[in-house]
Amino acid sequence: MANSLELNESAPNEQEAILVDPEVQTLMQQMVDQSSYSIHPKVDSKGISYPEIAAIFPNKTELETKDFLDNLVQAHVLNFKLLDKVILCPTCSSASVYSKYNCPRCSSFDIGKASIIEHIRCGYIGSLEKFRNNSQLVCPKCNGIVTEIEYRKIGTSFECNSCGSRFEAPKISHKCNSCDDVFTSREARYEPIFEYSLSEQTKKALAGGRIPLTSIATTLREKGYNVGIKADLVGKSGATHTFDIIARKDGKLVVAKFTFEPKEEDIIGLFAKKYDIDPTYTLLIALSPPSKEEEAVSRAYGVKILHSSANAPIGEQIVKLIEPTDI
Ligand SMILES: [Zn+2]
Ligand SMILES: [Zn+2]
Ligand SMILES: [Zn+2]
Repeated sequence: MANSLELNESAPNEQEAILVDPEVQTLMQQMVDQSSYSIHPKVDSKGISYPEIAAIFPNKTELETKDFLDNLVQAHVLNFKLLDKVILCPTCSSASVYSKYNCPRCSSFDIGKASIIEHIRCGYIGSLEKFRNNSQLVCPKCNGIVTEIEYRKIGTSFECNSCGSRFEAPKISHKCNSCDDVFTSREARYEPIFEYSLSEQTKKALAGGRIPLTSIATTLREKGYNVGIKADLVGKSGATHTFDIIARKDGKLVVAKFTFEPKEEDIIGLFAKKYDIDPTYTLLIALSPPSKEEEAVSRAYGVKILHSSANAPIGEQIVKLIEPTDI
């Protein structure tokens, strides 16, 4: 694994240092293999988790996962975006929590919303329910029948069915679905959830081939290819061209360059090298899928774009391309 991770010794920085960490390499490899470069939170009865991380490191706790991601943000490997904040149970950390309204005076949960009306003639103010008398509205103070034009809506308020008090806003409590604990907002854990994505720097590092080269070279070598990484070839013109991968087998020559997102300039740059070297296959290996336009441009220039996806790692795609019957 180590030979594909030759770093530029002259410019070691925090990001490059962390990229060689085995756990970080595993994460990057997973991202490249899945062609998915962001990490999304999942909120459920187990609390906050990050399935992309849990899939690779099933033993990491919530806290360890958070530390791992925080470190990657600090080293500028990942960017983060605050998505939301969630209420977690202070006892069991579950996010499967629902809110309850309680009476601020007696704490009863048996409260209801009430429309408050005023009997214009006598000035009595009370909830609509108190006026209801069979199908009519009758004023509880003056006992007069109240028609629709004889009262004024004052607003909505809450009323407690246990102690009868009326209030503007209920006291809010939360109940945990997992452990049945009831807690106040003061006691609740109120945690941010983030979405993480690769920083531009990391995209460059990946496109520079440091991470994906490892598995591609391994696959090709297993299939009997002679593989050179970051190797040079001299063209017909006498110019030297550097490729991320050069692979040979049975008289066939494959040259490949890496890019994060395939762009027309990458394709044209590669075409110039292809013209001078005349390999059997010229590949642009992209870490994200090309657009229709880029596909068309690449066909016109005789450059094949391969991009990583969950069910077809790049190394296997190369072998399949060159030896279609072999797989
Ligand atoms: Zn009450
Ligand atoms: Zn009245
Ligand atoms: Zn709980």
